[in-house]
Amino acid sequence: MKAVVAQETGPPSVMTWTDAEPPKPAPDECVVKVEACGACMHEVLVRRGDRAQGTGFPIIPGHEVVGEVVEIGADVVDFAAGDRVVANQRQRVCGKCRECRMGRETRCPRKVFLGDIGLNGGYAELVAVSDGSLVKVPAGLTSPHVAIASCAIGTQLNALRDVARLELGETVLVTGAGGGVGLHAIQLAKAMGARVVAQTTSRNKVEAVREAGADEIVLVERGADYGKDVMDVTGGRGCDVVLENVGAASFASSVKTVALHGRLVLVGEVQKTPPRVEADLVGWRGRDISIRSAASTTRRQLEDVLTLMERGVVTPVVTDVLPMSQAPRAHQILESGSATGRILLVPDSAG
Ligand SMILES: [Zn+2]
Ligand SMILES: [Zn+2]
Repeated sequence: MKAVVAQETGPPSVMTWTDAEPPKPAPDECVVKVEACGACMHEVLVRRGDRAQGTGFPIIPGHEVVGEVVEIGADVVDFAAGDRVVANQRQRVCGKCRECRMGRETRCPRKVFLGDIGLNGGYAELVAVSDGSLVKVPAGLTSPHVAIASCAIGTQLNALRDVARLELGETVLVTGAGGGVGLHAIQLAKAMGARVVAQTTSRNKVEAVREAGADEIVLVERGADYGKDVMDVTGGRGCDVVLENVGAASFASSVKTVALHGRLVLVGEVQKTPPRVEADLVGWRGRDISIRSAASTTRRQLEDVLTLMERGVVTPVVTDVLPMSQAPRAHQILESGSATGRILLVPDSAG
């Protein structure tokens, strides 16, 4: 088969579209013929060697896979050749540990990500994924954009619904609102009956943020304190839920905007080695706020995202579709931070 192989850590050019050994399914795995694979900052970190857990090379990156099952392992019963499936970022979780049993498989200690630590991922014509990490795509969803359902949308559903417990009528601040996850957070929060304040540092992303449904847009210079701007557009009350998609660089501003009894959820971190942030314990305690975090997506959350997509409640925002041989170009776009929405890669052989 053909695949994008990164031979070693380095610049985007270490990735080449070349011949690779096709995967053989383990007993619990399906081999999926890749229709499309999202390009994600996670793979940029893998390629640069910036993952704290390390990485094995050579590697085929990619974890946002949609495609068709072409071969199944001996123990697979829920899938058959011909099923169109989407992967839930991970190649497998154990399904047996305390976290898995409690529906918190994103924290399974034995989880293995696709395209990470020596496990080949979805920038390829074929990829092997365990049956526990696959979900069948509803027949009504024919677009390859479904590839981003787990990473770009499911993570935000996790944060808003299951971690922040967003309630009808509350106000939500979405930071990094013009990016590939922020735009979906806006759509979800609106669908959940929230008023949405969107923070962005890019003037050229304002239109997309407005289109996604934001009620208020706070456009600020990169690095500027936007705490007062958010308080102004919320009548001095602040936001019940703050989705922190940027990380340490904007935390100090964000935490000031958390309303009484509000919840701040840490989702993204854009810096490799973020600085320490200060804790204003007296100020936080005086507002009874919670600071929590959310990572990736459970299979249930992915299924829910697919249902929401099928009903037209949330629409994946994809701005570029590139052949896999142009994976280096996709990474350059990601590293520049210029993309509004997500980037998809499709095998060159798909035409
Ligand atoms: Zn991703
Ligand atoms: Zn587990």
